[in-house]
Amino acid sequence: MNAAPIVRDVVLVGGGHSHALLIRRWAMRPLPGVRLTLVSDGVMTPYSGMLPGHVAGHYTADEVHIDLLRLCTWAGVRFIDARMTGLDPRARTVDLDQRPPIGYDRLSLDTGSTPDLSVPGAADHATPVKPVSGFVRRWRTIRERLPAAGDTDRVALDIGVVGSGAGGFEILMAVHHALAGRAVALHWVMRGERPLDGRHRSARTAALTAARDAGVEVHTGFDVERVEAGPVLRAVDGRRLALGELLWCTGASGPDWPREAGLAVDERGFVVTDAMLRSVSHPSVYASGDIGTQRDTPSAKAGVHAVRQAPVLHDNLRADLLGEPLRPYRPQRDFLSLMATGERHAIASRGPFTVAGDWVWRWKDRIDRRFVQRFERLPAMPARTLPPLLAGALRVREESAGNRAAPDGMRCRGCGAKIGSDLLQEALRAYGHRDHDGRDGATGSAEGVLQGTGEARDVSIIAPGERLVVQSVDQLSALFDDPWHFARIATLHALGDVLTVRARPHSALLLLTLPPADDVVQRRELSALLDGVGSVLREQGVRLIGGHTAEGPQLQVALTFNAFADPASYDVGSAERPRAGDALVLTRPIGTGVLFAGAMRAHARGDDLAAAIETMGRSQTAVTDCLHAHGARCTTDVTGFGLAGHLERLLAGFDVAARVDMAKVPVLAGARALAAAGNRSSLFEANRAAVDRLDGSAALDDADTVLLADPQTAGGFLSVLPAGRTGKALDALRSLAPDSAIIGTIIGPVEASGTHAVTLAGERPSRIGDQ
Ligand SMILES: Cc1cc2nc3c(=O)[nH]c(=O)nc-3n(C[C@H](O)[C@H](O)[C@H](O)COP(=O)(O)OP(=O)(O)OC[C@H]3O[C@@H](n4cnc5c(N)ncnc54)[C@H](O)[C@@H]3O)c2cc1C
Repeated sequence: MNAAPIVRDVVLVGGGHSHALLIRRWAMRPLPGVRLTLVSDGVMTPYSGMLPGHVAGHYTADEVHIDLLRLCTWAGVRFIDARMTGLDPRARTVDLDQRPPIGYDRLSLDTGSTPDLSVPGAADHATPVKPVSGFVRRWRTIRERLPAAGDTDRVALDIGVVGSGAGGFEILMAVHHALAGRAVALHWVMRGERPLDGRHRSARTAALTAARDAGVEVHTGFDVERVEAGPVLRAVDGRRLALGELLWCTGASGPDWPREAGLAVDERGFVVTDAMLRSVSHPSVYASGDIGTQRDTPSAKAGVHAVRQAPVLHDNLRADLLGEPLRPYRPQRDFLSLMATGERHAIASRGPFTVAGDWVWRWKDRIDRRFVQRFERLPAMPARTLPPLLAGALRVREESAGNRAAPDGMRCRGCGAKIGSDLLQEALRAYGHRDHDGRDGATGSAEGVLQGTGEARDVSIIAPGERLVVQSVDQLSALFDDPWHFARIATLHALGDVLTVRARPHSALLLLTLPPADDVVQRRELSALLDGVGSVLREQGVRLIGGHTAEGPQLQVALTFNAFADPASYDVGSAERPRAGDALVLTRPIGTGVLFAGAMRAHARGDDLAAAIETMGRSQTAVTDCLHAHGARCTTDVTGFGLAGHLERLLAGFDVAARVDMAKVPVLAGARALAAAGNRSSLFEANRAAVDRLDGSAALDDADTVLLADPQTAGGFLSVLPAGRTGKALDALRSLAPDSAIIGTIIGPVEASGTHAVTLAGERPSRIGDQ
C-alpha cells in the first residue's frame, strides 16, 4: 500500500517484455503518489524466445513463462487480470472485457503482436503462433493425436508452417525435433526464395540448408492467396497444398482497438510513437515492444527491442509525471539473432557473420534462462515488512493480546486481518453475546426498528411486514489490489452468513475505506469498488440502500445485509441435530489464507492465486439452495476461524461427534505446498487452538494443521446432510460447486462430556500440493 496519497494512475496494459522489466525497476524506486497498475489478459506471460524450446521438449511450460501476478505483488503494483478491448483517450479510460473500464493519467501499451491472419480463410483454418496460450494448447492436441513413434509406415499427418521469419524457422525445426520418429511430413511455405528476409545471405542459406537436411519439404515462391478447409493452401500461381495441420507464423500485425480509439497507427495497425515512445497523436499514451512503431526509426518486431526499450520507458514515464525532460530510444540497426534448430543446436547471425553449433545453443539457453530467472529470483523487499526491532515489538504486543503475528511482522489482510476467535468470544461474552453467529441472540431486541431516512441516504428504513429480518455484517481488508474483483469477493463473503440461515437478502449497506488519494483517483477507485459490489447485488436482486466512505491506510469493504425470512416456515436458530451416519459436506476448497500469506512474501504462484480468486468470486446462492433442498440439517460458511473452528461451531451444542478424513478435504492448488513450506496466515496461531482440540490432531503434519486453521475469505459451506441423501446431493452440488466433497461423517452422540468432539482420520494425499 502507498503511504503517500495517490495522485496519479499509471496503467500498463500487456505484460510483455518492456512492462515486466519496467515493473522490476519501478519496485526498486517507486514514485510516491503514483499508483502503477498492470492489466494483463493472463497471469502467466510467455517468453516467446523460449517457445520453440518448449515445443522441442527442452523446457517445461513453467520455464518459459513469467508469473506476472507474483511479480506485481512483490513490486507493490496493482494487477488486474483482464483483457483490454478498447480505450477512450479523451476520457482516459481503458475498456476491459466483462468488467467496467478503468481510468488512467498515463497509459502504456505493451501488448505485443499476432501473426497477420488477413489472408482469407487463415483465421478459420490455421493455428497462429500467437497468442502463445492458444498455440501451446493446439500443439498438445497435435502431439496427442499422432500415432506413437516408430509407426512410420505411412504419413499420418502433413504439417505446414507458413512464415519465413526467425520465429517460423524456429517453430518448424522445433516441431521436427519433437516429432522425430513419428509419421509426419513437414512443409515450410514461404513467399520468397529464401527465408529470413533482411538477414545476411549466409544466415538465410544456413536456415534453408538446416530445414532441407531435416527432410522438410520447402515450398518457395508460394504466395498464399487463401486457406480452405482441410486445411488446404492455395497459392496465387494456382499451386495447391493439402495439409493436416497448419501453423501460421507470418509477419506481425496489430489489433483493431488502437485505430478504433483514434490513436495514430501505421499501415499494420501499430501505434505510431515518437522517439520517446509516446503516441504522436495522444502524448499521455506510450507504446513499446511490438505494439509500437517509432515514426522516425521503425525497427523489426523483435523481443530485443521490447527489452531495450524498458529502461527508456521507465525513465520517461517517471520524467513525464515529474515534469522533467524525456529521453529518446535509439534502436540499433542490426542485432544478434540466435535461432535454435530443434535439437540443442543453434545458428547465430549478426550483420555478415553467421556461425552455428551446439555452443551457440548453450549460449542462447543461458541468455534466455537468465532473462526469465530475473522474474523468479526476486530480491527481498525490506521496505515491505517491518524492521526486526519493530516486528519484535509487534510480536510482544500481539502475544500479550493472545494473538501472534508472523515472525517477520507480516499482517494478513482479507479474513486474516481480524481478531482471533477466542479473543472475540471473550469480548462478545462481555458484551452479552454467546455466539459469534448470533445463534443465541443479540443483546436487545430488533423488533420495531424504524428510523428516518433522507435524500443523502444517511439512514434507511425497512418495513419487513410480517417477515423476519435477518441481518449480518462483515468487513474485509483488501487481500489483493484489484478493487473490482476484491469488492465482488468481499460482497460474496458478507453474503455467506445470510445464506446459511436460509434468508433471502433484500438490501445492503456499504462501508468503504479507501487509502488516501486525490479526488480523481478516489473517484476511479470508488467506481471500481461500487461496480464490484454491484455485480453481486444485481445478481442477487439486492438493493444498496445506504453506506458510508472513509479514508484509511488500507482498502476495506464492509457490508451489512438485510434479509427476510418467512416466520411460518422459519424456526429461528433451529439447526437440526445431526445424526450418526450423516455426511459432512464442504462445498469449496480451503487454503485462501495460506495462499495470500504466500503472495505477500512472493512465494505463491500467480496461476494458483488467479484460480483462487476465480473460485472466491463465484456466487454460492444456488449452492445453499441446493444444500437446503437436500435436507441439510445445519450449515455454516467457512470463514475467518478456519475449517476446524467453524466445524467446532457447527457442532457446538449438539452433543455429537464427527470424523473428518483429511484426505478428502479439498484444498486450493498450491496451498498445501505453501503450508508445508512454512507460509501461514497471521491469524493461524489464534485459530490453531481449535485444531489442537481435535482428537488426532497430534498426528497431523504441519501442512494439515495449517490448513485446518487457515482463515478463509469467501469460503465454502460446511453442512451436515442426512445419510441416504448424500449421493444425489453431491451430484447436484458438484454441478454448481465442482470441488464439493464429503469430508467426513457424524459418528453419534458424545456420551461422557455431553459436548461435541471431532476425530481426524485418513491418509493424507500422497502428492504434496494440489488435489
Ligand atoms: C516463435 C517465436 C520466437 C521468437 N524468438 C525471438 C527471439 O529469439 N528474439 C527476439 O528478439 N524476438 C523473438 N520473437 C519475437 C518476439 O516474440 C516479439 O517481438 C516479442 O515477444 C514482443 O514483445 P512484447 O513485449 O511486444 O510483447 P509480448 O511478449 O508478445 O507480450 C504481450 C503481452 O500482452 C498481453 N496482451 C496482448 N493483448 C492484450 C490485451 N488486449 N489486454 C491485455 N493484455 C494483452 C499478451 O498476453 C502478452 O502477455 C519470437 C517470436 C516468435 C513467434
